[in-house]
Amino acid sequence: MTAKIISGTDVAAAIRQECRGRTEILQAAGTTPGLAVIMVGADPASAVYVRKKIQACADVGIASRKYLFPASANQDDVIDQITALGADPDVHGILVQLPLPAQFDIKAVLSAIPREKDVDGFHLYNVGGLVIGDTVFPPCTPYGVMRILDFAGVEIAGRNAVVVGASNIVGKPMALMLMQREATVSVCHAKTRDLAQFTILADILVVAAGCPNLIVGPMVKSGAVVIDVGINRLPDGRLVGDCDFESVSRRASMMTPVPGGVGPMTVTMLLVNTISSAEQSVAIAGQGTAPRARRPADAGLAIS
Ligand code: NAD
Repeated sequence: MTAKIISGTDVAAAIRQECRGRTEILQAAGTTPGLAVIMVGADPASAVYVRKKIQACADVGIASRKYLFPASANQDDVIDQITALGADPDVHGILVQLPLPAQFDIKAVLSAIPREKDVDGFHLYNVGGLVIGDTVFPPCTPYGVMRILDFAGVEIAGRNAVVVGASNIVGKPMALMLMQREATVSVCHAKTRDLAQFTILADILVVAAGCPNLIVGPMVKSGAVVIDVGINRLPDGRLVGDCDFESVSRRASMMTPVPGGVGPMTVTMLLVNTISSAEQSVAIAGQGTAPRARRPADAGLAIS
């Protein structure tokens, strides 16, 4: 078997086209969706991610603002800035680029973001919402994976899904989203004994561990759908995922590549969440009918 390659770049392009339509409708109603990005320190990788997010906003008509703090910044000053943005009606989404410098209490900073502007979906309220299938803003990477699965027409209910990786930003929310869609979900992590005994059962295998070549062909059920979330830079400069592409793509029926798989979706889902937030604010303010505004209960896992 040779896997059909699912291009996250193509799925992201289709969703961004939808985003442009949604921002045009909002702008016609007098609202430009706004995203504020806060970055503390000068981590080069973070700077690249922030630049990509700002560019992506411009691409779909979201107004973005960047707030840079030095690595030595005081946490209270950052929280004060978040509080001010929380009260700013032109800002519909607030994002704090992670990681933060070691002296910061990440939970305290993320909790300062008003939950209705938490477009990264990391606030405890949104995380808790995931557990009961009622989240306002799903975290962008697993949300992107769900959109890829739906775009590719992958049936989820009743399938065995295995998530490799159990981080707060990818693995755990991924597992909850798949469970919400009635998959039977197993979660594996660095302490899992004999990873292959789990992965071989997966109809849907999502890998987010950050280990190149962690998953090789014999660990994959024939015909499985494999989503490789991992992004690893090899010493020779190549970017690879967590799966050995050659051998896994011979077993899988569908597979995402790295690069060009989940990566483009993550930024795109940030745009989706920001636009959804703007639509919600318009609906709440009663300034008109927001055509795509969704109640929080729908906004999370629904695929539009
Ligand atoms: P993390 O380091 O926070 O968590 C890694 C998880 O993988 C942990 O739960 C750990 O226990 C598990 N793990 C590590 N080694 C393992 C092993 N040998 N076997 C089984 N489980 C193992 O990382 P993260 O932030 O969740 O990111 C994971 C990967 O996904 C990284 O490569 C990261 O770059 C990538 N990522 C990609 C995107 C994207 O947009 N494509 C977004 C976020 C993260």
